[in-house]
Amino acid sequence: MQPAPMPRHELNGQPAAPGIAIGSLVRLTHQVQVLRQAGRPADEAAALEAAIAAALADLAVLSAEAGGDGADILEFQTAMLEDDALREPALAAIGTGTAADVAWAESLEAQAAEYDAAEDGYFRARAADVRDLAERVSRHLLGESETALPAGAIVLADDLTPSRFLETDWQGGGIALLAGSPASHVAMLARARGVPMVTGLRAVDAEGHAHAAVDGGSGTLWLSPDAAVLADLAARTAQAAHHAAAAADGLLRPAITASGRRIAIHINVADPAELDRIDPAICDGIGLTRTELLFPANGGLPDEARQYAVYRRILQWAGGRPVTIRTLDAGGDKPIAGLTVAGESNPFLGLRGVRLSLARPEVFAVQLRALARAAVHGNLKVMVPMVTVPAELEATRTLLLAAIADLHAAGIAAQLPALGMMVEVPAAALAPEKFDAAFYSIGSNDLTQYVTASARDIGAVAGLADVRNPGVLRLIGEVAAHGKRVGREVSLCGDAAGDPALTEALLAAGLESLSMAPNALAAVKAAVGRCP
Ligand code: PEP
Ligand code: MG
Repeated sequence: MQPAPMPRHELNGQPAAPGIAIGSLVRLTHQVQVLRQAGRPADEAAALEAAIAAALADLAVLSAEAGGDGADILEFQTAMLEDDALREPALAAIGTGTAADVAWAESLEAQAAEYDAAEDGYFRARAADVRDLAERVSRHLLGESETALPAGAIVLADDLTPSRFLETDWQGGGIALLAGSPASHVAMLARARGVPMVTGLRAVDAEGHAHAAVDGGSGTLWLSPDAAVLADLAARTAQAAHHAAAAADGLLRPAITASGRRIAIHINVADPAELDRIDPAICDGIGLTRTELLFPANGGLPDEARQYAVYRRILQWAGGRPVTIRTLDAGGDKPIAGLTVAGESNPFLGLRGVRLSLARPEVFAVQLRALARAAVHGNLKVMVPMVTVPAELEATRTLLLAAIADLHAAGIAAQLPALGMMVEVPAAALAPEKFDAAFYSIGSNDLTQYVTASARDIGAVAGLADVRNPGVLRLIGEVAAHGKRVGREVSLCGDAAGDPALTEALLAAGLESLSMAPNALAAVKAAVGRCP
């Protein structure tokens, strides 16, 4: 007998990335539960070997799909997992009667802890690889390999890190998060990639539900959507496609207001691979490249040659248009294993952005050298995140000049790019004239969270973190006025730039340059045309 279909269940959270997705429901758990009963040692050892073999097969598939830097990291993990030394302590514990999953989890955690304690940052970063491998093998041991995401799934999770998002193929799928917030970085990525997302659902009892639908525009999750819901969603999908086609018509035209004011429209880049699908002629350049997202969270930091290759490729894509590359903004909700500080009580007020880069000059120097070398190949602008006091910008300039001097001394071509700053800390927004920046770009995501004291990753205060707050708009207006007075560009590259409902308010505040996720361009250009 067929089980009775589950009744439809509707839940409301916060709209985080628009769009509709319908598919099978996958509950993503972060913590692997230890559930196995210990069998005979020989059986436990065989189970562990089989799980390792399955994990190696996963890595081979992932590596083939990832390409480039991603493949290098996965190949490194493969080599680690193939090494007998990694599994020997677990096999020894199994020999004394311990269950395979417990033996594996405990021995790998002990090895990860040894890496954690290493002096050298490179070895510390390997702890994340060990934990990644521990979790991958444990899933196979516990028969949880089905948590690999099938294409087009609706993923229900407590929260997601940006790196986990970037690792996943979301084609046709959607995301429903119990925690999280529309202002978080992972939500920003979901909007940029067009993956429908709802956050802040708090508690969801998904037991027994196999299918789900997400409407990221209204913030709704349906478990076991019925025919009536599906028909309504199909009608709304068709309407959205119609609007998108109409907006796309204006994509190649410049953005000009009704009174003839030309507004510069730039794109934000999270992943250089996405540029292959974008015609540079649709924009005036790149207003923000979030370099912390170019590098996988568990793979350590790429060396100078790799960074240089990525930056150069972006400049070549732009064909002479300005390209703004932001120096590493790790920290906050963008952790990088082995680099950011774990366990800060409030990571958004901690060692993130330029604070972290200046605290780790050996890491910063690698990026600055790669940027100075890339500057030879186009119109590069280097932007410093989270600047709070002028000394941080000046220290960056000093390190950049030193990097260029070293490169020239070694006979390597390098050039000084324009050095500008993000205006996202209230102290900088209140006194922009104190900073000798070649250009300013307002980070409205952080500026809003700091001015309204409403963390961007806490859904319960998402309503307060509103860029239309008069205090935030006043600061934006004052920074824009300062730029006009001194003849230096002021742009805005936070998510507000990509929201057509906010375009009029931002232009009224005096902005003439915006930078946004590529898929927001058409709608914002159309919105500019409707502004006075
Ligand atoms: C911002 O804060 O608005 C910004 C663009 O930077 P990020 O979102 O990466 O912190
Ligand atoms: Mg920011």
